[in-house]
Formats: sequence, structure tokens, C-alpha cells
Amino acid sequence: MMAPPFEQLLRNEISALSAYPVPERAGFLMLDAMENPHSLPEELRAEIAQLVRDAAINRYPDPRAVRLKERLRNAMEIPSGMEIMLGNGSDELIQIIALALARPGASLLSVEPAFAMFRLIAIYAGLRYAGVQLNPDFTLDLEAVIAAIDRFRPAVIFIAYPNNPTGNLFDREGLRRIVEAAPGLVVIDEAYHIFAQESFMPLLADFRNLLVMRTLSKLGMAGLRLGFLTGSREWLTQLEKLRLPYNVNALTQIVAEKLLQHMVVLRDQAGEIISQRAKLYTELSELAGVRAYRSDANFILFRVTGADDVFDRLLKRGVLIKNLNRSHPLLENCLRVTVGTAGQNQQFIQALRNSLIP
Ligand code: PMP
Repeated sequence: MMAPPFEQLLRNEISALSAYPVPERAGFLMLDAMENPHSLPEELRAEIAQLVRDAAINRYPDPRAVRLKERLRNAMEIPSGMEIMLGNGSDELIQIIALALARPGASLLSVEPAFAMFRLIAIYAGLRYAGVQLNPDFTLDLEAVIAAIDRFRPAVIFIAYPNNPTGNLFDREGLRRIVEAAPGLVVIDEAYHIFAQESFMPLLADFRNLLVMRTLSKLGMAGLRLGFLTGSREWLTQLEKLRLPYNVNALTQIVAEKLLQHMVVLRDQAGEIISQRAKLYTELSELAGVRAYRSDANFILFRVTGADDVFDRLLKRGVLIKNLNRSHPLLENCLRVTVGTAGQNQQFIQALRNSLIP
């Protein structure tokens, strides 16, 4: 028997989606994905090699990742009394939250432009999606968010703090009012916390509907895929039911445990990225025809005449950044560059100088 065509089997909203674009990166200077550009000290690499050599990969990993969670609790200063849930990257945690809350008619609210996965995962999970536009200077339009909360009564609100792709921290008091006004969960996504040092973790005890999410990706462990969510036991016990038992693999667990004992190394690297960010911002701002936006993260958004052409010219020079032109009306002619090492940033600035449209 012939299988029916996929259009008849797929949900309409999935047929209508285009897959999240991941470019071919090999051979490029990769300044597109907010990775930490630094490698680890040789001794630490040797210790990791030893741990990996001795790892019992014939066994399933610890499904509760007890030791790793303990390390995280210390390294990330997670308030006592708050639970931790681990994800295969924070992407997976967003998905778990969305799946848990996808009652018929329920919606997920975020601001725009924001991290693209909030909207995509809402669609995957069958949630309605409501995006509230930021002000043109990328600050929060608090009145519009509160009005949207009243209108959609969202099951969950996702806000990245600092925001991706704009790089700014939203007004704290504004976010607090959103948490107070929300009829459902509010997840503050602190993926870029190490570069901003501002957190909503201290407020967890005050708001039962507040969860804080972070990732180790931007700290230098993007390849390990590890994110975590913290908040009240009440909520995390429910969300845990959707977590697949072995979502954090054995190698990730042991390597992350080791690296979390060396937070000094990771913090130093982040410190270096922060000082490079200031330099890169100045250099971008000095280029004629470029408008750079201040960032509290490890990337900088900038606007440039003929962004599509500039992006292509950079590619031809071997530099891959992110083209955000046409991804949102507020991002017209915008490109986003990840802060690299001093040398990489120089290489990027030089390539950009040669790529600008006169
Ligand atoms: N949240 C934000 C705001 C991000 O920018 C990213 C990655 N770009 C993520 C979450 C996902 O991080 P990961 O899945 O690597 O933990």
C-alpha cells in the first residue's frame, strides 16, 4: 500500500515551517554562534582526556546527574531551596516547558526580536505564539507587554536577559512587573549571564511562577550541550516528568563536572571577552556607515548600509557572522558578530572595512 503524501500526515504548522538554518561553517572564522573562542589550558585538557578514557560509556549515564547538579549549585550560586533541572542544551528545556504547557488554546509570549527558538518551539509544541515588539531602541515596551498579557493570558513568557540578538539587558523593574502580571510561568533566560552579571535568581524565592534558565554553551561548553533550569520544587517536579531519562550523556556529565571545578578559568576567559567587547564596540562605532549597539553579552549587533552585500563580502573573505536583515522589521540591515579573541576581532574588523559599501 502506498503511504499517503506527507502533507496529509504532517501538522499544517510543521509543513509551513522552514527548518532552523545552520550554515556550513568549516573553514570560516566562526563569529556567528556566540561561542567562547578560547581553548582550555593544556593541564585541564589532559585531565579531561583521562576522565574520558576512564568513562564507563557502556553504562547509561546517571539519570539524575546528582554530582553535576551539586557542582552547578556551587558554581552558579543557585539559591538554596531551589531545584535544578538539566537539559541537552537550554533549547531542550524550552521545549520541555512548552510541551508541558501546551493545553488546547494555550500560548507562549515573548518579545521581538528575541531568540528565534522561542517562537519555533512554541510551534513545535502546538502552542499559540504571541510576539510583542520591542521599542525601536530595543528597550522593553512594557505597556504593550502588559496589554498582551491581558489579551493572551499566556501559559508562559520567555524573556532573554540579556536579549539575543540585541545584546541589551531589559529594565529590571519592568521585568518584575511582567512577572507580577503574568497569569502563568515566566522564564528568564540568562544564557549570557557570565557577560552581564545581572540575574533574577535572587527573586526566585519571591515569585513561585518565576524560573531562571542558563546554559553552559556561552561559557565555553557549547559542544557539550548542557543547560539548566532553576526554580521552585513545585514547578520543577512537574517539568521533570517530561525530561527523557538520559538526556544529559555520560561524557557531558563528567566533563562539565570537571570544568565547573575550574570556574576561575572560564571566568577569566569571559573577562577577556568582556574587554574585547568594549574594543570591538569602539572600533565598529568608528567605521563610517556602521551603527553599533551596546551589548551586555558576548556579541554585538550593528546596522550597516547594504547588510546583505556586506555579509556576502565577509563570507568571501572567510568570515562568518549572522545576517539578521529581514528577520524582523526592527532589524533592517542588521548583522550580529560574536566577540572573538583579540586576533579574530582584528581579522573581522579588517574584513569588514574591506566589505563596506561606499
Ligand atoms: N537562549 C538564548 C537567549 C540563546 O541565545 C541561546 C543560544 N543561542 C540559547 C538559549 C540556547 O542555548 P543552548 O541550547 O546552547 O543551551
